[in-house]
Amino acid sequence: MKLTRRNFLKLTGSTATAAAMGAGAGGALLGSKPAAAASPAPAVQRMGAAELPKPKGPRAVVLGGGWAGLTLAKYLKKENPKLDVVLIEKRATFMSCPISNLWLVGGVELEFLTHSFLDAARNNNYLFFNATMIDLDREKRRVYTDQGYLDYDYLALCPGIDYNYKAIGVDDPEAEYKLRQNYPAGFMPGSEHISIRNKLEDFDGGVFLLTVPAGNYRCLPGPYERACLVASYFKKEKIPGKVVLLDANPDITIKKDGFHAAFDELYKGIIEYKPSFAIKSVDPDKRVVSSDFEDIKFDDAAIYPRVRASRLIEQLGLADPKSPQMEARIDQQFNNVIGDDRVYVVGDARPMPFSKSGNTANSEAKNIARVIAARSMGKEVKEWVSPHTVCYSVVQLEPREAISVDAYYKHNPDGSFAFDRVKLFEKRSVARGEATLEWAEGLYRDMFG
Ligand SMILES: Cc1cc2nc3c(=O)[nH]c(=O)nc-3n(C[C@H](O)[C@H](O)[C@H](O)COP(=O)(O)OP(=O)(O)OC[C@H]3O[C@@H](n4cnc5c(N)ncnc54)[C@H](O)[C@@H]3O)c2cc1C
Repeated sequence: MKLTRRNFLKLTGSTATAAAMGAGAGGALLGSKPAAAASPAPAVQRMGAAELPKPKGPRAVVLGGGWAGLTLAKYLKKENPKLDVVLIEKRATFMSCPISNLWLVGGVELEFLTHSFLDAARNNNYLFFNATMIDLDREKRRVYTDQGYLDYDYLALCPGIDYNYKAIGVDDPEAEYKLRQNYPAGFMPGSEHISIRNKLEDFDGGVFLLTVPAGNYRCLPGPYERACLVASYFKKEKIPGKVVLLDANPDITIKKDGFHAAFDELYKGIIEYKPSFAIKSVDPDKRVVSSDFEDIKFDDAAIYPRVRASRLIEQLGLADPKSPQMEARIDQQFNNVIGDDRVYVVGDARPMPFSKSGNTANSEAKNIARVIAARSMGKEVKEWVSPHTVCYSVVQLEPREAISVDAYYKHNPDGSFAFDRVKLFEKRSVARGEATLEWAEGLYRDMFG
């Protein structure tokens, strides 16, 4: 769009409307404070249309090529082939979080985790747009990216999570950045994982610290699985290391018996598990983590702070101010933003208390693809369908043994949710170790094939 006087008035007018309607009601133009007379216009106001093929039907834009977004893009097209689907993703290559704990300790090759967004789009007849979303105007139904804007008929936001270091007492941006760079959490894929793997390769002994946050964090069993695998690696490589696992919760949050059995039977003296450890401060220079009662010194670490929904949700004015994790304010049956059946939030940025896991995001995305496709054809899906949580955790490297959980949810009449039809498989076995990789391959096929 060219910055003519008319356009400028239109844009500033829509900003004023948004402000008057309150957060989440209209567009949320980032950085669009009224400009001083001589200052240049904000980038979004100068932005032109993205260079994409013209839509060949109603356009459904999906933001985020993670487990929710990849599934949505594919299944929207399957449910209504007339939809013109565009997947916006800022990364150039997909790297999987599931199975990454195994990769950290050499249990699979990197090729197992990495996949091509181009293959996913080509195989499933949608467009992959490698760009970063920066803003949204819901009145115009327009998404702004660093590569130009695009208009939508339906928009599904699947941006995942961010970290909240303030929740573990780290307020100083310098300290936060030391933690992000020196002791990354490894719960968002990419450099964090590579860095942790390099740390483990270089580790020659002492305390390797891992933490489990409070709240509904991403991948409930993930930190316990990681503790087992790091301990298994120390044992195999004869590294005189110890894993200290500080848990903000009073006990292991899922597959408790299976993990306790692994800690006690396989890793006695290697894993030290400390429940109810609420981190109140971290000193990255002295390498000390403190609760109100105790200081723990470490030699190296991967510190997992509390999670929150991706900051994008808040920046777009879509976060529920009452949500402690700043998750989206959406209809809890059909995932649309309250009062707007054109915009949806799916995956780990949702507020429902489902497990923040890949299988959950994948199954939820299939359900919401049906909801959006039906609405795009003037119909309605009547029934809420539960997402499905399936989660394998590898507890030993050689032989590869795993435990697992399989669960659904019920939506109670008072609006709350609870686990339903839960099956726990907590006796570790090689068969489950094999099933872990088969599960992942099946899901990669589902998203990319
Ligand atoms: C170590 C680890 C182990 C795990 N193990 C399992 C497991 O065994 N089983 C299981 O089911 N789950 C597991 N999970 C959890 C699973 O990875 C997540 O729950 C899942 O990835 C959530 O999907 P999502 O689509 O909501 O978010 P993500 O997969 O994080 O996808 C979000 C995407 O949005 C993109 N994005 C964000 N903002 C923008 C923007 N502004 N512009 C463009 N793109 C943007 C991001 O780059 C990202 O690709 C594990 C997670 C971790 C970290």
